[in-house]
Order: sequence, then structure tokens, then C-alpha cells
Amino acid sequence: MTFDDFDFDYELLDGLHAMGFEHPTPIQAQAIPVVLSHKDLIACAQTGTGKTAAYLLPILNKIISAHSDQRHLNTLILSPTRELAIQIDQQIEGLGYFTGISSIAIYGGGDGAAWSQQRKALAEGSEIIIATPGRLIALLQMGEINFKNLQHLVLDEADRMLDMGFYDDIIRIIGYLPEKRQTLLFSATMPPKIRTLANNILHKPEQINIAVAQPAEGILQQIYFVYDEQKIGLLKHILREGNFTSIIIFASTKENVKKLNDELIRNRLNTKAFHSDLPQKEREEILREFKNKTLPILIGTDILARGIDVEGISLVINFNVPHDPEDYIHRIGRTARADTTGTAITFVNDKELRKLKAIEQMIGKEIPRVSLPTALGAAPEFKHTTLSSKPKRKKKRPFRRNKPSTTSDNKSKS
Ligand code: AMP
Repeated sequence: MTFDDFDFDYELLDGLHAMGFEHPTPIQAQAIPVVLSHKDLIACAQTGTGKTAAYLLPILNKIISAHSDQRHLNTLILSPTRELAIQIDQQIEGLGYFTGISSIAIYGGGDGAAWSQQRKALAEGSEIIIATPGRLIALLQMGEINFKNLQHLVLDEADRMLDMGFYDDIIRIIGYLPEKRQTLLFSATMPPKIRTLANNILHKPEQINIAVAQPAEGILQQIYFVYDEQKIGLLKHILREGNFTSIIIFASTKENVKKLNDELIRNRLNTKAFHSDLPQKEREEILREFKNKTLPILIGTDILARGIDVEGISLVINFNVPHDPEDYIHRIGRTARADTTGTAITFVNDKELRKLKAIEQMIGKEIPRVSLPTALGAAPEFKHTTLSSKPKRKKKRPFRRNKPSTTSDNKSKS
């Protein structure tokens, strides 16, 4: 499946292209048609699954299709935290870059200047507001927002909003909105209180459940930040110095698997490569050797990550960060099976930081960083890039509509 299957406007497809999105994630594949068909939705999906774009893309497309010459407030997105509100705002900026659609993030905690910037940007108008509930209530009480034309209400990370005590605020906010609207509720978990909220504010919702497996408790996860040239030295160091008996090394491509295997064999390490070019019989033989522990090190692509169930694997090394966060979980799940323990080490270079961040968002925590052995030279000092970093922009094209200057002022100053 590709994004072309949704018949999105070309301006939106350009934004997707600029963001580097090629294929919809499972939550996007399932949620986009529901949102496009104007139905209410309750979706169980965690951060890292692509849930933000799952609701933003169809909403942006609907705003474009409405062909309105005037800027009406079309969508309200409620977020539990300022950080998430900013991230959503930045995704709108990236995905909607060629559409001219504008958004404002409204959240508390800023100084007086930020507050007046937010009010000024509101007065200018924009199609999408992303707000934390507390700050929005304050503005609503001042009568500063007109929801007359509102079409969509999105509750993002609804379970977190309820955990933070926002239930009453949410209900109060909904009291200001038109009854005829589309409501989309996204939540990482579905405790009974979310069901209650959904029953109260959604109308005959479609339901989507994207279950994400979490890594087993017994896996010790570690990250090394490295330059690309340091990866092979680090790998050899860990294989020689570490006390591991049964090891899987994951590389991203067959070519990398073969190259790594050759290099390790040259260094007198007992390894074999496992990839789709090998005949089935040979693959089975290699797996047999690995299972009965006559072969201590196996190097493979992600075809090794799913399905093979070998007991006693003590170490998984990700020579390359997997593209898909779920693959990370599958890869490291080869160790610490059946309540045992194991270690999962991931080498991360500067180009892989974004993938690391997506993994960490999915598993909901930062993976401990380990210092590079001094013999390998200095480790790079990456700034830990955030997921919300902006896409590389293509040549500027004229907008269909102009963004209000205050919106960008608001973003840069708040
Ligand atoms: P989210 O779950 O919305 O927080 O998204 C997690 C990360 O995945 C964000 O960095 C998004 O930019 C990225 N992302 C979302 N959808 C896609 C896609 N279809 N292809 C590649 N990356 C994506």
C-alpha cells in the first residue's frame, strides 16, 4: 500500500514526500479511510506507530478539499502536554507545508509574551488549534475562540489526559463545540475511564486496535553512539571481550550481512551469514548449528527477527538501527526468551538518530547509552535530535493561501 491509494491532494502528497513518508503505517492504513468517511473513531495506538499522521493527513486533505477562501477554525486537537502539542504542530507544518494550512499551538507554562502571542495568533485565525486543556479553558472563558465552523475534535493521548486529571476540562471544552462534528479519540491504553469518556462524546465510533508488543523485561538494552567507521571495530571488541556464548547480529541488507560475515571470518571468528539468497536447505542447516550451539555467531537480515525461536541467545547486536520500530522489538526479542535474561546492543550513527527516537517513543523510555571503549577513539557527540525536527525543504512553491505572519511569530517566540 502507498499513500497514493488514498487519493490525497497533490499538495499533501508533496508534504508527505518532503517528510520522507513512503508507506502508511498500520494505524494510518486503517484510520485514514475512517476519518475520510467522516465517522467517529476510537483508536488504541501508542506513540511511535505514526498515529499523529493517521489523523492529520485525512484532516488536512479534507481542509484542502473544502476549497475555502476564508480561514475558518476547522479542527481542535487536545493534547495532554506542551511537548506533544508542539510536536503535533510541527508535523502539521511539515505535512501541510505545501498546502498553506496554518495551525497554532496553545499551551500554558510560557511567559506573558507567549500568552499575548497566542492570543494575537488566535485573532488572526487558523484552521487548526492544538491545545492543552487547561490553557484552552482560560481562553474560552475570555470568549476568544469561535468554534462555529469546527468540523473535527481530536483527543490525542486521551489516557494521559485523564491520568492528568483533565476529564472535567475536556467535558467543559466539548460544551463549547458544535454537536455536529467528527470526534477522533487516540489512546495508548483503553482503561474503563476511556470507554466512559468515549461513550459520552463519540457517536457510533469505528474502533481500531494496534497492539504493540513490548520488549521482555529480562532484556538489558544498550546504545552506542558511533561514527560509521567505528562500528566494525566496536563489533569485534564486543565479540572478543564480552562473555557471550550465542549471538545474533542484525544488519540492514543482504550485502551488509555478507560483508560483515567475511570481515569477521577474516578475524577468525566463528560466524555464518543467514539471508534470503541461501538455498532453503543451507538455511535450515545453519539454523540447526546455531540452535545446537556449534555455531556461536549468526549474522542476518530481518528475516531472522521473526519466527526463529532459539533458546539461550545471550546477545543481539543491531549493527544497523532497524527502520521500523516494531522490527527492533522483534529483533531484540530473540534474546531473553521465556523469562531468561539477555543483552541487546544497538550501534547508532548520526543518520540513525531519528530511527532510534522512534523506537524509544514506541517502547516509552530512553535506552541507556554506553561509552565507547577508548581504544576505538572518541565517540561522536550527537545532539539528540527530536522526532519533530523539520523535514528538508524542497524549492519553495507559491502557497494557495498565505500563512498569517503572527502564527510563525508565535512559534518562534513561544
Ligand atoms: P507518532 O506515532 O505519530 O508519534 O510518529 C512516530 C514517528 O514516525 C514520527 O517521527 C513520524 O514523523 C514518523 N512517521 C509517521 N508516519 C510515518 C510513515 N508513514 N513513514 C515514515 N515515518 C513515519
